[in-house]
Amino acid sequence: MNQAVTEDRRAKRESDKLAKRLRRQVGQAIEDFKMIEPGDRVMVALSGGKDSYAMLEILRSLQAAAPVDFELFAVNLDQKQPGFPEHVLPDYLRSIDMPFEILEQDTYSVVTRVIPEGKTYCSLCSRLRRGALYTYAAEQGFTKIALGHHMDDMVETLFLNLFHGGRMASMPPKLKSDKGDHVVIRPLAYCREKDLARYATDKAFPIIPCNLCGTQDNLQRVAIKQMLQQWDRLSPGRVETIFKAMGNIALSQLADRSLFDFASLRIDGQEPTTADDRWLVGGSS
Ligand code: SF4
Repeated sequence: MNQAVTEDRRAKRESDKLAKRLRRQVGQAIEDFKMIEPGDRVMVALSGGKDSYAMLEILRSLQAAAPVDFELFAVNLDQKQPGFPEHVLPDYLRSIDMPFEILEQDTYSVVTRVIPEGKTYCSLCSRLRRGALYTYAAEQGFTKIALGHHMDDMVETLFLNLFHGGRMASMPPKLKSDKGDHVVIRPLAYCREKDLARYATDKAFPIIPCNLCGTQDNLQRVAIKQMLQQWDRLSPGRVETIFKAMGNIALSQLADRSLFDFASLRIDGQEPTTADDRWLVGGSS
């Protein structure tokens, strides 16, 4: 057998293995967090990036094999960035026979008007995008909104909040909005970005880069990404371990008084004190 054929077969085997692993991880996340239930109408937010294409493809393949009935519907927001290739997503979605809607909202003009030159657009841009997508989901009665964030995004966000926000918080795999009218799910929560990148290459998705507006990425996030990439090289598995810790919180071993009642801790049988506690706020001197 010639060497090129052997190489092709090996690459195909690797690619099948990766697709199977990603499907298993997505299926596990959906099950662990009860992300999708029978009768759900799931709006899949598509940006045109590798992660959301991968999410859609994997959800479709799970839907085809799932024992429960649920609906998938793809939605993209055309934010009117200059040069946005409007035909790419509709062409792709039609080619795979996927029901979809392309929403149009000129958030680009808003962002470029409001944000001073030289500052990063991304935070306001994605907030406006989220607003438009959530409004559409509520109008159309979708019961879940699927976003393509993966494990690396979630760990990065944890460190962003730790380093720059002084809080331990990240992006949860499943989130109910404050008003109670949206449930957001992140089916890629157990997937690594490098696997999704390889999957996207294998599948030759028609990627639309998310830098059409020419802005710089958030520098703090870039620094954290680099830190995690370095850890990945030096200590493989560390990102997975950090992610595991996000699901294994020992509240009594931290210091959040609103989540754990440290004030009531005393030895068994000891009565709560009614004594003057002015010293707690620095004494009365
Ligand atoms: S790169 Fe451009 S399109 Fe993407 S989030 Fe930032 S501002 Fe928005």
